Amino acid sequence: MSVMDIHLLGSPVLRQRAEEIEGVDDEIRALIDDMFETMGVACGVGLAANQVGIARRVAVINAEGQTFAMINPVVVEQTGRAGAEEGCLSIPDAYAEVTRPESIVLEALDESGEPFRLAATGLVARAIQHEIDHLDGVLFIDHIGPLKRQLLVTRWKKEHRDEGLTRTPRPEESDATN
Ligand SMILES: [Zn+2]
Repeated sequence: MSVMDIHLLGSPVLRQRAEEIEGVDDEIRALIDDMFETMGVACGVGLAANQVGIARRVAVINAEGQTFAMINPVVVEQTGRAGAEEGCLSIPDAYAEVTRPESIVLEALDESGEPFRLAATGLVARAIQHEIDHLDGVLFIDHIGPLKRQLLVTRWKKEHRDEGLTRTPRPEESDATN
């Protein structure tokens, strides 16, 4: 397993719609292993393949004791609305309140290519939706008002202007973001 570089706001892959996985093979399983490793080092609660530069529909979650990979994930049911602060490993140090469906039902394939269905609420539901957004080229800042977004992005770009389009996650990071 290896830790992968994380793509940052401004990297075009974050705005790409990731492609469906046709067959779950060893290459995809190796990618999932590397993504779990990367999410662990970065202390994330979720990570989508776009964030490690690969526009394919794979994401991993580690929230509230639930750790799983999801391939070709789809939300098939949603209920309620809830707001909470979100962050993103691709936009470090930026946070904003995002309103999303509170409870969802997820359908996806696991690492063996087997379909599974998962009912989730709270942080797990939020993390799943945040990662599926990534696979559609959508970022959490797209869910906030235009003025707030402009302020956040302008400040973030100023603070991070010396960085490139990727960063190597370091173990000392302790923010729980996705
Ligand atoms: Zn994110």
